[in-house]
Amino acid sequence: MKFDYLIVGAGYAGAILAERIASQLDKKVIIIEKRNHIAGNAFDYYDENGVLVHKYGPHIFHTSSKKVYDYLSDFTKWNTYVHHVKAVVEGKPVPIPFNLNSVYELFPKNFSEKLESKLIEKYGYGLKIPILKLKEVDDSDLKFLAEYIYKNVFYGYTLKQWALKPEELDFNVTSRVPVYISRDNRYFQDTYQQIPAYGYTAMFEKILNHKNIRILLNTDYREAIEYIKFDKMIYTGPLDYYFDYIYGQLPYRSLRFEFENFNQSQFQEVGQMNYPNNYDYTRITEFKYLTMQKSINTTVAFEYPQEYIPGINEPYYPIPRDINNELFSKYKAEAEKLDGSVFFVGRLADYKYYNMDQIAGVALQLFEKKIANIR
Ligand SMILES: Cc1cc2nc3c(=O)[nH]c(=O)nc-3n(C[C@H](O)[C@H](O)[C@H](O)COP(=O)(O)OP(=O)(O)OC[C@H]3O[C@@H](n4cnc5c(N)ncnc54)[C@H](O)[C@@H]3O)c2cc1C
Repeated sequence: MKFDYLIVGAGYAGAILAERIASQLDKKVIIIEKRNHIAGNAFDYYDENGVLVHKYGPHIFHTSSKKVYDYLSDFTKWNTYVHHVKAVVEGKPVPIPFNLNSVYELFPKNFSEKLESKLIEKYGYGLKIPILKLKEVDDSDLKFLAEYIYKNVFYGYTLKQWALKPEELDFNVTSRVPVYISRDNRYFQDTYQQIPAYGYTAMFEKILNHKNIRILLNTDYREAIEYIKFDKMIYTGPLDYYFDYIYGQLPYRSLRFEFENFNQSQFQEVGQMNYPNNYDYTRITEFKYLTMQKSINTTVAFEYPQEYIPGINEPYYPIPRDINNELFSKYKAEAEKLDGSVFFVGRLADYKYYNMDQIAGVALQLFEKKIANIR
């Protein structure tokens, strides 16, 4: 049998493209996935205690893209879940992103009022400001606040997460969690904040349930590619691996998760608790908040950042620095030479951190702009 498309990887990018090609173009697709499951890093499963957990770290779906939301809604019902995060600062859990409520939790009322009015006067209510930008402020009270937040919320967390100081990373990394001049304690402000009602894996099963789609699990694409006949390829794996590391390895940061089940219905006061200054882990996630599962026990994940060692652990986060971006652009130039016969897409092939809705949007766009036009 000959396939029109061979797709490497059954995560968001691979699964959505397979579904579009199968259902909209009526073409035959084979997906090759090296793990023993579909859904990529969004994979969830019921642990031995019956609690639904996310194997590769907590995944919270949020988007302001109606197009992405509508597309995924064909394959799942949703539970509304508004994510709340706190960080333990000087022994006190305070809202993250650091906002005006966090100021009041940590400082005396009079001083907090002064900081609040200065912040609003200078930046305006509702503004999100990156910490490295806030540090440039010239007012002495605001400077004190900026240094305090930098030291107690960002510095230790970034060092644990990346083994680098905030200044050593691209500016946009620390900007992802800005200081928020607001009383809004929600972690995200997107229009749609919902989690698949039966989990991510169940949603992926529906996306991939099409007569034109075959899936080969437990197989690195290189083991199978010479035995499969196909016209075109979509590759969502690591770009450096595809090109045999000719320019060297693209660096990643990895993570280790320790899952622990407690014989109590609730472990902590919010879905995610960050520990910027104590312990080796960065955060603890309690899955029941995210999944809305009712059970008498609860499972949490302690998250330990670690160095990425190929073949030993997972490449989780590209490390956004100039030197790594330069290396990536060499591989990108190789990839462009294959344009039209191999499409490279996804967090690993683009060496880029995407949220789930972003990669879903990128995959839909690739389908419309490049694939649906090709006959
Ligand atoms: C810890 C963590 C938490 C996250 N939390 C959130 C969140 O809360 N909200 C959010 O929106 N996003 C979150 N994300 C991002 C989300 O995981 C990504 O957007 C999404 O997984 C990207 O999908 P993808 O298809 O590009 O990649 P992946 O999901 O990684 O899929 C790629 C697939 O390709 C397979 N593959 C790779 N190489 C080969 C090969 N050689 N042969 C065969 N198969 C191969 C892999 O096994 C994998 O299954 C998080 C990411 C991490 C790391």
